[in-house]
Amino acid sequence: AAPLVISVSTALSAKHGLLIRNRPQFEQARNIDAVIFDKTGTLTEGEFGVTDMQTFGDMDEDTMLSFAATAENDSEHPIARGIIDEASKRELDLYEMKDFNSITGVGIEGTIDGKNVKVVSPGYIKEQKMEFDDDNFNTWSSQGKTVVFLVIDESLAGAIALADKIKESAKETIDQLHKRNIKAMMLTGDNQKVADYVAQQIGIDEVYAEVLPDEKAKKITEIKERGLVVAMTGDGINDAPALTEADVGIAVGAGTDIAMDSADIILVESNPKDILGIFSLSKKTFNKMV
Ligand code: ADP
Ligand code: MG
Repeated sequence: AAPLVISVSTALSAKHGLLIRNRPQFEQARNIDAVIFDKTGTLTEGEFGVTDMQTFGDMDEDTMLSFAATAENDSEHPIARGIIDEASKRELDLYEMKDFNSITGVGIEGTIDGKNVKVVSPGYIKEQKMEFDDDNFNTWSSQGKTVVFLVIDESLAGAIALADKIKESAKETIDQLHKRNIKAMMLTGDNQKVADYVAQQIGIDEVYAEVLPDEKAKKITEIKERGLVVAMTGDGINDAPALTEADVGIAVGAGTDIAMDSADIILVESNPKDILGIFSLSKKTFNKMV
């Protein structure tokens, strides 16, 4: 009777917005103690809009934005989309760029007019020990805005704040996990203040922010070492090793192919709420099989 049970639950899971790639991991889902969410694109819409800007030095805002949008032109990160959209809204001309290079979890760089141009995370600025007046940065971050910096030939040229929207279903999903005694955690490359803001809005229990891509899988190992069975959600190239390391890897459907190839389960509609279906379905399937 086993094949029948499997085919029935496959149809059922499709109805719940789930695509199950690995059966044994799916059946593990009934034992999960914690769900570790990535932030951008899973708990939030992943659609950034520019809200504030600041220039350092003598560049005006539009020139600063033109440089940033030019450099971001070949990037697939949702931050890049937000910056390019703002430049086109202002009808700004872009420059020509050479030598595009993406630094996963940090930002991008290229050569514009013979100058090295980077758009990078606050973590990179901190690491390079670049000094700046951080009043705006602190204000924007504590409002939950993601801030990136424009660096031209190793000196700071500007800061751009972008806002993303928290998904309406995020809080309800976490409330439901809590009812099942499952912890909700967040693992993100974004700034600590931004992560804390989002976490607090939706009731996340533990926050791990400013985690570089190669550290994400290590963080999952650490959490597993506490004796917890963990599921992890992710959408990016940078999430793939962590998805593999988790007991149950869950990719959001709108994510990259690499994330989906590393996942056991795919959320077809990219809706975090569909995670709840995993728990009820894996219990149902298990009960039928025993
Ligand atoms: P997440 O964990 O949310 O997927 P990422 O690892 O993709 O975050 O990115 C971490 C941080 O690196 C971002 O918050 C941003 O500061 C910076 N970053 C990544 N890609 C870009 C980009 N294309 N332009 C500017 N900054 C970027
Ligand atoms: Mg991501």
